[in-house]
Amino acid sequence: MIACLESPTLKLFSMPAECCYTRGKSVKIINEKVQKQQGSNDCALFAIAFTTTLCHGNNPTTTRYDQKAMRNQMVDCLEAKNMTEFPTTEKRVQLLLAPVSNKTVPVFCTCRLPDDKTKYVQCDGQCSEWYHPACANIPQSVIRNTNKRWMCFKCRSEK
Ligand SMILES: [Zn+2]
Ligand SMILES: [Zn+2]
Repeated sequence: MIACLESPTLKLFSMPAECCYTRGKSVKIINEKVQKQQGSNDCALFAIAFTTTLCHGNNPTTTRYDQKAMRNQMVDCLEAKNMTEFPTTEKRVQLLLAPVSNKTVPVFCTCRLPDDKTKYVQCDGQCSEWYHPACANIPQSVIRNTNKRWMCFKCRSEK
């Protein structure tokens, strides 16, 4: 979860997709309407607070953090080597204005990363998946000649 996606670009959606290695074909990114940080210095604190709230089984979209107390909380957690929930407030807080927007980011190759606009080779086997030459150890002869058949490790071993 990223704390500051008020007007998310495609790149901002692909960044969290890069962080979650999945065997699936895509990563669904849900941009939730959460508390908006005041100022521009606390985005990491909010990201850690949201993550901590999730890890405690609570919902960051309904949690209202006391921003002034967040730094001390972070220091306390680090000193105690134990992440406890960040202090909340009853006061009104500003929420991100942007409507909730979701995006499904396709991921490829053995590295399961979003399209990085570098060269890919498609498997001619069952999976038809796209692979980076370096990740899948694809021979130069295949990279140079696109008509040459090539199968990924998985499809070769299933044969
Ligand atoms: Zn790769
Ligand atoms: Zn394959």
